[in-house]
Amino acid sequence: MPPFDVPEGDPFGPHNLPYGVFSPSADAERRVGVRLGDRVLDVGAVAAALGSPDADLLARPTLNPLLAAGPQAWSRVRTALTTWVAGSDPAHRAAVAAHLHPLAEVRLHLPFEVADYVDFYASENHARNVGRIFRPDAADSLTPNWKHLPIGYHGRAGTVVVSGTDVVRPSGQRKGPGDPEPVFGPSIRLDIEAEVGFVVGTPSAQGTPVPLTDFREHVFGLCLLNDWSARDIQAWEYVPLGPFLGKSFATSVSAWITPLAALEHARVAPPERTHPLLPYLDDSGTEPAGYDLRISVAVNGQVVSEPPFSTMYWTAAQQLAHLTVNGASLRTGDLYASGTVSGPAENQRGSLLELTWNGRDPLELPDGKRAFLEDGDVVTLTAWAPGADGTRVGLGEVSGRVVGS
Ligand code: MN
Repeated sequence: MPPFDVPEGDPFGPHNLPYGVFSPSADAERRVGVRLGDRVLDVGAVAAALGSPDADLLARPTLNPLLAAGPQAWSRVRTALTTWVAGSDPAHRAAVAAHLHPLAEVRLHLPFEVADYVDFYASENHARNVGRIFRPDAADSLTPNWKHLPIGYHGRAGTVVVSGTDVVRPSGQRKGPGDPEPVFGPSIRLDIEAEVGFVVGTPSAQGTPVPLTDFREHVFGLCLLNDWSARDIQAWEYVPLGPFLGKSFATSVSAWITPLAALEHARVAPPERTHPLLPYLDDSGTEPAGYDLRISVAVNGQVVSEPPFSTMYWTAAQQLAHLTVNGASLRTGDLYASGTVSGPAENQRGSLLELTWNGRDPLELPDGKRAFLEDGDVVTLTAWAPGADGTRVGLGEVSGRVVGS
């Protein structure tokens, strides 16, 4: 048994060390924590107890100061944490033991202050499925721009919520094909999108694009993300400027941000590029920028899909290069999401829209059929990535319950 009773093979063992923000009890102040097995380490308290020069970055109520500190600080802190939790030094062992809290007894918060939020559309399988559903007569299920640039839109940063937060069913305008006029009311086609969110640490200067090769200089880590989507509101409002109120009511993220440094063994080459890319997006000569993340989507505890992130056509590095190529700057806390992750198989689709083919083929759940979400439904995304020597790196889950409006 490794130190601190973390079982061998635990996906949240000392090889992982994702960051979050927690309170030991409902009224206690927020502090940065690192997950270790089924416990949370108060890393600011440990850093202070051990006289670490990084105590000031860690003894905070949010991850933003650590995010802003940049890759050298991220690496230094991770090295220190790894040493502390190894427990071979009695002083480290005592400090860590004194500041571990059972995960089940803490309250988890949104781990960072979200600056801007962008959502992409990087899965070719998802884009083709959506094209076939909504443009069945089109010659190509992809739009003409899709293989030339990572399509995205700016979302609403202020409504990003942490896993465990209830999601109130949104109301809005909708107009079905047979409706003579739009009607207003609660969405009747509430959906999920299983995605991966990337968290920006190091800012960039306005007017200066971030090249593909600088991805790791700016991006700290990633998390699971559920882009809740009201398909009926979205379908009526999106022409010609894109998603708006059908998406902005809530976006759920995991309470744990997995540093990219924990995912070195999960890096994979993205799918073969079938179209030539402009130089700022051409990653043919770069190190592999895809990530092998195995996602599961569960509705009320039943797994309904297992989307493979390794199938994403556009990488997070390409998305970052694209979103800054016009000179737009990055801020600490920027969050950008991959787009719905859908693999080629029917049981790898990351939205109910695709899984039920726009409601035509409802899912069979133990408590009945589902075309779209009902009040009381709980959607949970989980994932793991391959680590060194056959280990697994767990991503923090993102879960949310739909409540009636
Ligand atoms: Mn989305």
